[in-house]
Amino acid sequence: MTYMPEFSTPDTDGFFHGFGGMYLPEELKNVMHEIAAAYAEIKDTPKFKQELAHYLTEYVGRETPLYFAERLSKELGGAKIYLKREDLCHTGAHKINNVMGQILLARHMGKKRIIAETGAGQHGVATATGAALLGMKCRIYMGEEDTKRQELNVFRMKMLGAEVVPVMKGQRTLSDAVDAALEDLIQNYKDTFYLVGSAVGPHPYPMIVRDFQSVIGKESRRQILEHENRLPDYAVACVGGGSNAIGLFSGFVKDPSVRLVGVEAAGKGLDTGEHCATMTKGKPGYLHGAYTYLLQDDKGNPALTHSISAGLDYPGVGAEHSMLKETGRAVYETATDQEAVEACLALSRIEGIIPALESSHALAYTMKLAKTLDQEKIIVMCLSGRGDKDVHILQQAINF
Ligand SMILES: *Cc1c(COP(=O)(O)O)cnc(C)c1O
Repeated sequence: MTYMPEFSTPDTDGFFHGFGGMYLPEELKNVMHEIAAAYAEIKDTPKFKQELAHYLTEYVGRETPLYFAERLSKELGGAKIYLKREDLCHTGAHKINNVMGQILLARHMGKKRIIAETGAGQHGVATATGAALLGMKCRIYMGEEDTKRQELNVFRMKMLGAEVVPVMKGQRTLSDAVDAALEDLIQNYKDTFYLVGSAVGPHPYPMIVRDFQSVIGKESRRQILEHENRLPDYAVACVGGGSNAIGLFSGFVKDPSVRLVGVEAAGKGLDTGEHCATMTKGKPGYLHGAYTYLLQDDKGNPALTHSISAGLDYPGVGAEHSMLKETGRAVYETATDQEAVEACLALSRIEGIIPALESSHALAYTMKLAKTLDQEKIIVMCLSGRGDKDVHILQQAINF
């Protein structure tokens, strides 16, 4: 569970090669130091490791298979494609891995109340699930616009016993929800834990989220060695904030022969301005307490972004990905809305698996790549989630 490559452990101030950090008011910095200290204290204890392993096995349903997509590989005529089936996790995506870790950390710290923010609602649902499981109070902040766009997820969160607070400030979307959650934390940090959903934000979150998602990479590495008796040539994952990607990459980052590829959303096209290809088109700046790659407008404010997949629709990216890009250890490619929809349909028809639209971005790139490679090459791709949540969007995009 705690495979942590030295390569990417941040320094004590939470910097990855100059990216990340804690750019916050003093009172919030103290809260972050408290979380970092509590995490350092428990993360390697047998009790915490056993507790987490118990919930991951018995509740989340790990380990997830590493599935050889034989028909898809044959059809493309190139490399062998293996899919890490995070879509089979309870709640339908990888997000629950991180929720379980953080909520157990919160309980260890004596916190009674969980807050989170959510854009598409997927992290809100995962957090509400974990809070229900451990009997903790849960409040989810969500921009009012998003509550309208994601009505079903709002309903799910309420079913799970969470309170959903629509945020009426600013654009009434994700960034405003983050601000509201941070304000709540300043007021209530004594009994409240802020559960962050991706490998973003101030230290120690990018490190903690990576560690909890590293189970993806750890399992994948062992499974591909079992299947093929060798490491893959490529490890590919989609990148929103970057948590499923950093989880997968962490298993291979120390193996120089494995190429790491993150796939961002090119939306309607990289030249249209309607995308969220942060690393491909952005430049370093400050967002939500961290220095990281960022899509910015002319004035340096976070840009408005677009993707057909709500889970990739974020103007920033995790600090560690900024480092991996800068050092050249990982490369970042893109896929458009259209390419993602086509890949989603292909996997549905050829393998009987309907992938999430986020994961379909990684798949679109993987399929393109596989065709260019010899048949003995191996690609491991993280299938971060299942597509049930996306069928109403797909209905509008596909004509049968
Ligand atoms: C939220 C989400 C993502 C994007 O988040 P990362 O932190 O970049 O992993 C990807 N896939 C699915 C299915 C999601 O729900």
